[in-house]
Amino acid sequence: MPELPEVENAMRRLRTAIEGKTIAVVRTLHSSLKRQLPPAKARRLRQRRVVRVERRGKHQLLHLDDGSALHAHFRMNGDWIVSRTDQVPDRFTRALIDLTDGTRVELHDSRALSALSFHTTAASALPSLGIEANDDSLDAAYLSNALSRRRGPIKPALMDQKVIAGLGNIYAAEALWRARISPRAMAASISKLRLVRLVDAIRAVLSDEDRPPGRYTDSTDRHRFAVYDREGKPCRVCSTPIRRIVQAGRSTYYCPKCQRS
Ligand SMILES: [Zn+2]
Repeated sequence: MPELPEVENAMRRLRTAIEGKTIAVVRTLHSSLKRQLPPAKARRLRQRRVVRVERRGKHQLLHLDDGSALHAHFRMNGDWIVSRTDQVPDRFTRALIDLTDGTRVELHDSRALSALSFHTTAASALPSLGIEANDDSLDAAYLSNALSRRRGPIKPALMDQKVIAGLGNIYAAEALWRARISPRAMAASISKLRLVRLVDAIRAVLSDEDRPPGRYTDSTDRHRFAVYDREGKPCRVCSTPIRRIVQAGRSTYYCPKCQRS
């Protein structure tokens, strides 16, 4: 699944490819996207200028010159490909945004789970979202307040987009390992000191340091994770085998020794 750095990367490529340009036509090539963006709605995008591309959490919004917006979400496997309108689209391309200058942006998704929808106002396009995971103003006080009313463990709480927008399964697990907090610790009872550590850990795992430039996917990425997808492999700090549990339907990886409470 694309995590925040991957979505940010993709959004920047989209921004470079499309901002300031005018849409000639938007076409959906897959039945699920045709349902989300039927031809009558797709027609409303014609001759609209893309004034701004914005990311909120893992959502991407194309703000159009009449105040309407095109919303995109990659879900499990999406990405953008920039091409030209005279080229044959890739076989995994699910939607095309043709621009009046002859360039094209393809929504590429081998599993066809991505979302694309039209909204008459940008405000109506997004669910309610918490602070951005990579926002400088994310601090222990914000987290303490956001978690104070939560019941249940910290890991699913961290993945709740109303708490922090953009933090997904991989980086929630990685951040908890770095902060030495058990994924099972009750969210509302984590001390301020440990929340300070957690905020630092979130920043560290989301930072672009040590990343090769360009695109990367889950499969090429895995080797650099501390706990994610490393069940049974030795903890990078204490060599204890990494454990996997399921929380809220998602796999959580952690070190039972480093993350005891
Ligand atoms: Zn360990």
